[in-house]
Amino acid sequence: MEKFIVDEARLKSVEDNYKAIKSKIEDAAVKAGRNPADVRLMAVTKTVESVYINKVLDLGADLIGENRVQEYLGKKDKLHLNGVEKHLIGHLQTNKVKQIVGEVDMIESVDSVKLAREISRVSVNRGIFSDILVEVNVGKEDSKSGVYIEQLEDLLFELAEMDGIRVKGLMTIPPICESEKEINEYFSTMYQSFIDIKDKKLDNISMDILSMGMSGDFEAAVANGSNIVRVGSAIFGARTYF
Ligand SMILES: *Cc1c(COP(=O)(O)O)cnc(C)c1O
Repeated sequence: MEKFIVDEARLKSVEDNYKAIKSKIEDAAVKAGRNPADVRLMAVTKTVESVYINKVLDLGADLIGENRVQEYLGKKDKLHLNGVEKHLIGHLQTNKVKQIVGEVDMIESVDSVKLAREISRVSVNRGIFSDILVEVNVGKEDSKSGVYIEQLEDLLFELAEMDGIRVKGLMTIPPICESEKEINEYFSTMYQSFIDIKDKKLDNISMDILSMGMSGDFEAAVANGSNIVRVGSAIFGARTYF
């Protein structure tokens, strides 16, 4: 087996990047008249080796996001996860649900009744609750998972009936945008729908979390009411595979 060599320069840049992103989030919150404490930074750790992930965990990161069940299960024992919240943010296949329920604190990528039903079934079997977010395909892109905003309320009514799951809010990945104006429109559309649903106070549905914003657009997301920004490459550097 080839020996894994820690890149000290990369470790240093991960540290610098993490601190810089934290402060940009704070600035964006203050600029938007929001309390910086209301916006959480998720370190998106897909494809990243544990040593670099542990760097940000040791600096105080308290929330990580992983895309793939197998990858997460394969590396979690190497991570300094004490007191750290773990979310699954990648597309989840129904046949993988058994492996991930109980392993993460939230599944952010629930995009169908079928998937929710399986999470419900497995959670009930194990006597636990699974916290979930509904993924919204705000730009109606064929390449992305998630429900359209128009379908959201119907889906929520169905989810509200299921035991073993607790809907906590919404997640989205907007289209790649050419302009600041365009991205702001997607984020504000999401925020509006988040607030509309919250105001309806649907039984068994809480709308506390709006997870949106990534490396290229987290400041715009914070300006538009996001309370979890999911940042990967701006902390860890460009991904070499995945
Ligand atoms: C990879 C990923 C991110 C982070 O993307 P970056 O552009 O690297 O910050 C955020 N959310 C989801 C769902 C992802 O898959």
